[in-house]
Amino acid sequence: MAEFRVLPHSVAAQDFAAALGAFEKIVGVGWVIADEARLAPYRKAMLPVDIAAHAPSAVVMPNSVEQIQQLLKIANAHRIPFWPISTGRNFGYGSALPATRGQVVLDLKRLDRIVAVDPEMCTALVEPGVTYQQLYDYLAERNLPLWIDPPGPGPLVSLVGNTLERGGGNTPYGDHFEFACGMEVVLADGQVLRTGMGALPGSNSWQCFKFGFGPYLDGMFTQSNFGIVTKLGVWLMPRPAGHRTLLVQYDDEADLAKAVDTIRPLRMGGVIANTGVVGNAAIALTGVGPRSQFYQGQGAIPKEVVLTAARKFGIAAWNMTFSLYGTEEQIAPNLKIVTEAFERTGARVNPDAYNAAQVGVPSLTTLSILDWVGGGGLAWFSPVSPTRGADAVKQQQLAAAIHVDHGFDYMPGITLNARDMQHVMAILYDRNVEEQTRRADSCMKTLIRQFARHGYGVYRTGQGYMDEAAKQSGPVAAQVNRAIKRALDPNGILAPGKSGITI
Ligand code: ADP
Repeated sequence: MAEFRVLPHSVAAQDFAAALGAFEKIVGVGWVIADEARLAPYRKAMLPVDIAAHAPSAVVMPNSVEQIQQLLKIANAHRIPFWPISTGRNFGYGSALPATRGQVVLDLKRLDRIVAVDPEMCTALVEPGVTYQQLYDYLAERNLPLWIDPPGPGPLVSLVGNTLERGGGNTPYGDHFEFACGMEVVLADGQVLRTGMGALPGSNSWQCFKFGFGPYLDGMFTQSNFGIVTKLGVWLMPRPAGHRTLLVQYDDEADLAKAVDTIRPLRMGGVIANTGVVGNAAIALTGVGPRSQFYQGQGAIPKEVVLTAARKFGIAAWNMTFSLYGTEEQIAPNLKIVTEAFERTGARVNPDAYNAAQVGVPSLTTLSILDWVGGGGLAWFSPVSPTRGADAVKQQQLAAAIHVDHGFDYMPGITLNARDMQHVMAILYDRNVEEQTRRADSCMKTLIRQFARHGYGVYRTGQGYMDEAAKQSGPVAAQVNRAIKRALDPNGILAPGKSGITI
C-alpha cells in the first residue's frame, strides 16, 4: 500500500489510497499528485506560517465541471476535504496552501478557457485557470479595444482567484468584485448554480445584470468555502481615447494626511476615476535596488537613511500616482483641477508619469519588492479605513512602530478609493532564517490585533491568520457563516477553515 506523509484529518491511509484511485479514474493518469517531489511546489508559501500545519495531502486537477461533480461524490463519501485554487499564486496571502493540514488541493488551472468575450457589451466569461496575461493577449491578438484590470502580480494570477479574494487593480475597474457579473458555482453536493440572470435558462443578460431576481448570492462565494466557482463574468473597460498618469510627491512624512484629504473629494466627485496608490519612500526604493545597497545595519532601516537615499532617485517621503482618462479635451480641465488642488497643499506634481497597472498592462515590476531583503518571505497586512487623512496617519504611526519593534521595514502602498483606503503593507523577511520567520509571524499577529483594537479590520488575509481575523467579526457573523456552511456542505468537504469557517 502506498505510504502517505500527510493524510486528511481522520481518514485512514487505506481509504485515502482508494479515494485517490477513484480520483484518478475521473481525471486521468498524471492528474492526481501524491508523490512528495510533485507535491513540493504546493507546499511552499511566502507567508511566515508553519508549512507542516498547512501541508496538502495530494493534488487533483480536473478539467471540467462534470469531473468536479464526480470528484465531489467521492470526497463526500470518504469525507476528504478539497481546497480549490485557481492558479494558487496569491503570493504573500498563502499561495496554494490549504487552511489546515491534509486537505487535497483541487487545482483548477486546467479549466483555462476564455468562454466568451462580447466586444459590444464589453464583458467576458472566464474559467478559473485564465490568467490576466492570457485575457490581455486574447484581446490584443484580436485587436479588441478593451482593457483588463491587472492586479499586482497580474501576468501570473487568475481573474477568478483574485476576484474571489476581492483583490484589486488600478484602472477605473480596480475593484474586481464590483466589476464581476455572474458566477457558475459547483456546490458541495455537485449541483451547479448560476448566479444572477444566469439562473434563467437561455438568459441573455448573465454578464450584463448582476443581481438577477431574489437574494444576491455572489458575495457569498467570495472569501468563503460555500462552493467551487467554475466560471466568472467580468466587465471590461472600453479602451479610453487617451490617458495621463500623475505622480504627486510630498517631502514631509506628516503630509500623508494632505495627500489623502486632497484626493478624497476628487475621487468622490469622479474627477479621478481610478484607484490611485500612495507609497512611502522605502517601498518606492525597492524599484531602485535591494536594501543592502542603502543600509547594512541591524533592525528596521532608519527613516533618515531611506529619505536621503530616496532623494537621489527623485523619490519623496510619499509618492502618489493616479491617472486621468479620455480625450485630450476631457483630460485638460481635470488635469488643471487636480494639479492646482495638490499644489495648493505643497505637493510637487509631475503630469507625465507611468504606471502599467493604471493603463491595463500586466507587469511584474511590483515583484521587485521581493529583492529588498531576499529569501522569499512576504506577508501582506491589509487594514481598511475611511479615506481620511487622520486615519491614514494614525495607521501609519501604529504600523511603523510595530514594524520597528519587530525589526522590519514599514513598506506601505495605500490604495485610494472614494470612501475606503486599503493600507496594504508588505512584511519582507528572509524565509530561510527561522528566527526571522517567527518574528514576521509575530509582527503579522500583532498588527492584526492592534489594528482591531483601534477599529481597523483587514480586507483580506492569508492562511494561518484567518481564524484571528474571523474572530474579530464576533460570534453572530461566525454563527451565520456556520449555518450557511452546514446547509450547503454538511460533510464539511469544501476548504474547511477558509476565512475561519468550519461546519
Ligand atoms: P490567484 O489567482 O491569486 O493565484 P488563488 O488561485 O490562489 O488566486 O485563489 C485565492 C484563493 O481563493 C484560494 O486560496 C481559495 O481560497 C479561493 N479560490 C480560488 N479559486 C477558487 C474557486 N475556483 N472556487 C472557490 N474558491 C476559490
